[in-house]
Amino acid sequence: MSGPKHSCGVVGIAADSDVANALYTALMIIQHRGQESAGISVYDGAAIETVKGDGLVDVAIPKDKLATLDGKVGIGHVRYATTGSKGYINAQPLTVKTAFGMLSVAHNGDVTNYLSLREKYMREGRTFLTDSDSELILKLISKHMAVTDDPVGSIRSAMGEMDGAYSLAVLMNDRLFAVRDPYGFRPLCLGKVYGGYMICSESTAIDALKGEFVRDIEPGEICEVTKDGYKVYPMERDHPRARCMFEWVYFARPDSVIDGREVYDVRRSIGKILARECPADVDLVMPIPDSGRAHAIGYALAAGIPYEEGFMKNRFAGRTFILPEQKMREAAVSTKMIPIKSTVSGKRIMIIDDSIVRGTTLKILVSMLRDAGAKEVHVRIGSPPIVAPCYYGVDMKTRDQFIANHYSIDGIREQIGADSLGYISIEGLVEAIGFKADDLCLACTNGKYPTRIEGEEYRF
Ligand code: 5GP
Ligand code: MG
Repeated sequence: MSGPKHSCGVVGIAADSDVANALYTALMIIQHRGQESAGISVYDGAAIETVKGDGLVDVAIPKDKLATLDGKVGIGHVRYATTGSKGYINAQPLTVKTAFGMLSVAHNGDVTNYLSLREKYMREGRTFLTDSDSELILKLISKHMAVTDDPVGSIRSAMGEMDGAYSLAVLMNDRLFAVRDPYGFRPLCLGKVYGGYMICSESTAIDALKGEFVRDIEPGEICEVTKDGYKVYPMERDHPRARCMFEWVYFARPDSVIDGREVYDVRRSIGKILARECPADVDLVMPIPDSGRAHAIGYALAAGIPYEEGFMKNRFAGRTFILPEQKMREAAVSTKMIPIKSTVSGKRIMIIDDSIVRGTTLKILVSMLRDAGAKEVHVRIGSPPIVAPCYYGVDMKTRDQFIANHYSIDGIREQIGADSLGYISIEGLVEAIGFKADDLCLACTNGKYPTRIEGEEYRF
């Protein structure tokens, strides 16, 4: 397994005027994909200049530094916070000097054979500054460029060495490339914007720039993007697909469309299927905001049960999921969400969330609802039980953290104190997303990894 995790967001723009401000706006729109660090690289006619830092986009890229970035082509990145990967050195884009000029890369995903590749290159005498697989990607592309001086061929050769998840925005001097790994784990799409073209992790950023969605970058494709158009270099052979189901369930914004499936629509379908698979006699359906909202709307619609926003979320509270200690996570959850007493008191309530990982959130929220006078509390979950770690970029770490590895479903119900608990089935989830199961990565729910993982079983 690689070092730092990279379920992040990437963007790239080529246009007929300065792109830094548009890149900044796009990064703000995909901020949910990463809050730990952010950065922008632009080619200014002579060199690639990079501004990056820790924190949210507006902190990491101060306005005065943004104003120094002059260039009509550039890339950007937001990085997802996980433990053990903090620090400026891991902020992206990563920019280096090479024999052919400058190279900058923004990466979303995790290269699963990173450690063995790095070991191989270290033995050949190469050195590494970071624990990041993104640095390896730079080195691979640069190595092939030194031989062929052909950007597309070099990226293709680098792809041949790498396994795992990578959606990339690559800047080679003034040339911009989008790259999506052959499995298509993470999303990546192309849009037409004012004066040029853009690539982005999520289509909603194209909408925000008042652009027009053009197409998804298909798994295995390299796409060169210029201000006037784009050229696609597809994979030459068939390759299995493994689109991450969690993008639709939790990670992406509801207003994004990934590979032809709108995230909001998929979540609503999940809710509808949940209503079919796990019905219950309740007075109202409530989401756990914000991540369970669309699932709950779908459930309420399908079941014909009133929908209420019975939890108020403190929008200024930070993220609880990533706090390092259980006590801290519990304390944080219990002040982040407060029930509306008049809505829940005396009622039989169904609450819906996208996923249960450790069980922290629901344990606390169910007991809050009881304290607020709820008569019954039923829980429905928009993903199957999470039982296996993600090696492709989502922050799901070790098996023993998953509550579903310690208890049966009824045991989990008891742990969180609910009257009933139902998860969507794997088949139901697959139906909601609308791809064949074989074209999705469901590894966190069934332990079947699409690529070889040291010490894990694998699917192909
Ligand atoms: P739990 O409290 O059971 O450990 O985690 C489940 C909650 O965390 C859900 O509300 C879900 O939306 C959220 N969640 C699930 N996976 C992730 C993740 O990878 N990162 C973050 N920040 N939250 C997550
Ligand atoms: Mg949540």
